[in-house]
Amino acid sequence: MKTVKDIEIKDKTILVRVDYNLPMDENLNIADDNRVRATLPLIKDLMHKGGKIILASHMGRPKGKKVASLSLAPAAKRLSELLGRPVGFVDDCIGAGVEERVTSLVPGEILLLENLRFYNEETANDREFARKLASLCDVFVNNAFSVSHREQASVVAITEFAPQSCAGFLLEKEVKCFRDSVENPSRPLVAIVGGAKVSSKLNALKNMLKYVDRLIIGGAMANTFLKGQGIDTGASMIEADLVETAAAIVEEAKEQGVDLLLPVDLVVADRFDANAETREVSVDAIPGTWMGLDIGPETGALFARALEDAGTIVWNGPMGVFEMERFCGGTKAVADAVAGSSAFSVVGGGDTGLAVKVCRVADKMSYISTGGGAFLHLMEGRELPGVAVLTGR
Ligand code: AMP
Repeated sequence: MKTVKDIEIKDKTILVRVDYNLPMDENLNIADDNRVRATLPLIKDLMHKGGKIILASHMGRPKGKKVASLSLAPAAKRLSELLGRPVGFVDDCIGAGVEERVTSLVPGEILLLENLRFYNEETANDREFARKLASLCDVFVNNAFSVSHREQASVVAITEFAPQSCAGFLLEKEVKCFRDSVENPSRPLVAIVGGAKVSSKLNALKNMLKYVDRLIIGGAMANTFLKGQGIDTGASMIEADLVETAAAIVEEAKEQGVDLLLPVDLVVADRFDANAETREVSVDAIPGTWMGLDIGPETGALFARALEDAGTIVWNGPMGVFEMERFCGGTKAVADAVAGSSAFSVVGGGDTGLAVKVCRVADKMSYISTGGGAFLHLMEGRELPGVAVLTGR
């Protein structure tokens, strides 16, 4: 993969695809500016080298229309505050007005374009839209790992037209970190997979079996696995059509010598509610109308022991409904065990990234990915389209 380190930057116009899809509160203030902070090393490097910097991003799902609440103007303001220097903003991402602003850029200056998804052409990977974007720059840099699993104009088609294309520091770091952890890990390599559905992580589970020494399964998806082991899971969320598949994965793990761990006890509730009545029960004693919403304390301790000697840990998916205090204990037990281990720990973004923050151990993880979908894509063993186009171009 060609990276920004391989390219001459001085006096060139550099278009950087960033991910400034920022969470906003009800007053349209930025609730979390991590995604802006994550781009600072690259932007500072480009400034230092005398590049004229254009930044492009999406925000939310405006579906091809201008939506004032999804403007990137607040991101420009925040970036300016973080850099301590002006950051220009233009209220479109293609067209004459944008071209005029780009032409007047001087080395070291920064211009953020308006939300790319105000045009449907962005998500459609439209070549003409990509050509217009590319015409703004000498060099295209993809620094948005979190959208690199998507075939979109500012990620994929743009590389057909930009004179040079390469990866930014963040994209390079994300891909390298994941590959090193899975393909060349310090062993034992332990994967923790949780979250809502087996269906959304089936391919990731199958692929990870090829690499891991130990596989820990928690969250709602564990219910389908328990059912596959002949356990009565009561009113727990399961995917009936995947019970056999889950049983086959357990068999495959045995054949491959992978130690697969399932919950031995659960926190069950009489309804899906933050104030539900709860009990801790062994998995073979789930009351018929109750549902498992978290792993139990014995399971938490079992999983923690399985993490003690790990050399590398890859974690995707919470162990329970961590958003509700009563069902956060299992995720917290695992988060603490990962935090306390000396393993290199990589946490998939999205819900898992949020869960380690809620459990206040984010700073103890070796790496928290900035991408949820893109991280899962890598776990499935698939190449990211946004990375594939930077290889050999
Ligand atoms: P995912 O996006 O697949 O990682 O799923 C994350 C979601 O799974 C979170 O919102 C959790 O609340 C939910 N979840 C985890 N465990 C359970 C469970 N036992 N029952 C219902 N939902 C769960």
